[in-house]
Amino acid sequence: MIVVIKVGTPETEIARISEELSTRGLTPEKIVGKHKVVLGLVGETASLDPLQIQEVSPWIEQVLRVEQPFKRASLEFRHGQASEVVVDTPNGAVHFGQQHPVVVVAGPCSVENEEMIVETARRVKAAGAQFLRGGAYKPRTSPYAFQGHGESALDLLAAAREATGLGIITEVMDAADLDKIVAVADVIQVGARNMQNFSLLKKVGAQPKPVLLKRGMSATIEEWLMAAEYVMAAGNSNVILCERGIRTFDRQYARNTLDLSVVPVLRSLTHLPIMIDPSHGTGRAEYVPSMALAAIAAGTDSLMIEVHPNPAKALSDGPQSLTPERFDRLMQELSVIGKAVKRWTEPAVALA
Ligand code: PEP
Ligand code: MN
Repeated sequence: MIVVIKVGTPETEIARISEELSTRGLTPEKIVGKHKVVLGLVGETASLDPLQIQEVSPWIEQVLRVEQPFKRASLEFRHGQASEVVVDTPNGAVHFGQQHPVVVVAGPCSVENEEMIVETARRVKAAGAQFLRGGAYKPRTSPYAFQGHGESALDLLAAAREATGLGIITEVMDAADLDKIVAVADVIQVGARNMQNFSLLKKVGAQPKPVLLKRGMSATIEEWLMAAEYVMAAGNSNVILCERGIRTFDRQYARNTLDLSVVPVLRSLTHLPIMIDPSHGTGRAEYVPSMALAAIAAGTDSLMIEVHPNPAKALSDGPQSLTPERFDRLMQELSVIGKAVKRWTEPAVALA
């Protein structure tokens, strides 16, 4: 349920309304939008009569029920206002959201060694990326495949962050590693395979860093938003939704089917920022640029692109990784569409 407050309501009255609602066993969450203040209510609201809530104050404009099963993640919960996720990086705050330029996250699938991760970080930064991605703990289909260097890779990500000032995004697979990851990463990634690992979702929801929630490869949009709801219900409303391709009937020519239609669909359902990952979405480096361009045209807030200094030698996901040179060109191509949709800023001249 949401309580829409009239424009011009004194702060003391908003506080009084919140307090009054708390005594009724509700948890009011104050959302300050551009035009309106809204109190989102979660708890046992099914039996509540909106008219009774309306009577709490003459400053209440409207009381509305959130019909969706996902509450905090729903667009209604913020009365139609998009949210933004602000991430502090050494290079300054980066904003993910509809009112901001497209944020580009780039880097290798896995952190392999110090030289490659620092070099890749420098290259993607120079091309205009604001975040470095790189897996320390890798979810591999085969137990015999490279599993990631684990904790030592976190140190290498920290070194790359130090060298470039880029924000770091890396995946958590096991809650036991969460504290170590939180100490290094600026955004915590929950991978497709863990999208419905509810105990992990609760734990990432209880830590302070923003969360990148990848769509499960067979997850419906509702399941995905319910997974976001788990994180938000645990106390962390800084969630970015990442589409990375879903499993359909054809795997012969592309690894997954990148579902770009999620951009307008999610816009109608949720206020959360969106990221598109055409690397896992297609599985083939040669298909990544056109899908990245299309994602910006469709209105994504951010992109995740795998980049490796030598894709042929990559320990994971080489076939879908761009070389730094191809990534440079892609950023030039993206800037054309990005400017056309007024969602692009040129990178500052790189110093690192
Ligand atoms: C990754 O980002 O490297 C990854 C494993 O992604 P996903 O969970 O989407 O497969
Ligand atoms: Mn990968």
